[in-house]
Amino acid sequence: MNNPFKNDPFALVWSAFKNLYPDKNCECWFDVVDDPNDVDGHYGWTEWHDDGTITIAVDIGLTLSDAVEIFAHELAHVAAGSDADHGEEWENAFDAIHAEYNKLGEELFDVRATAKCIDAKKLKPKSGEVT
Ligand SMILES: [Zn+2]
Repeated sequence: MNNPFKNDPFALVWSAFKNLYPDKNCECWFDVVDDPNDVDGHYGWTEWHDDGTITIAVDIGLTLSDAVEIFAHELAHVAAGSDADHGEEWENAFDAIHAEYNKLGEELFDVRATAKCIDAKKLKPKSGEVT
C-alpha cells in the first residue's frame, strides 16, 4: 500500500520504532477500541499471540495527534516486551521512540515534530522539498 502523505506522523513513528528496534515487528490496525463501559479509557491495545507475532490497535475515534501518541505508546509495549507493562522498560522505550521521532522530524521538517509526543499540525514540509 502506498502512502500519499509526505508528512504522515504514523509513518514517522513507525520509522522511529524500526530505527531503534529493527528486529521487533508487529501488525498494526485501526479499530474501535473505546468501550463505553471502560471508565479507564483505553484507546489502544497490544496483543501477544502464541505463535510469537504481535498485533497492536489504535482507536479510530481519536484525534489524529492523540492516535499517533497511542500508536507510539503501543509500539513501546512491543519494544519493551509483554512483561514490561508500563514500568521503566516501557517508559524508556516510549521516551526513545519520542526522541527518535523528534530527530527524524527535525531532519525532514522545519519545526520540531512534537511538543508532547506528536503534533501532526506542526509537520510541515521544508519549502521546496515537496511539490
Ligand atoms: Zn499501555
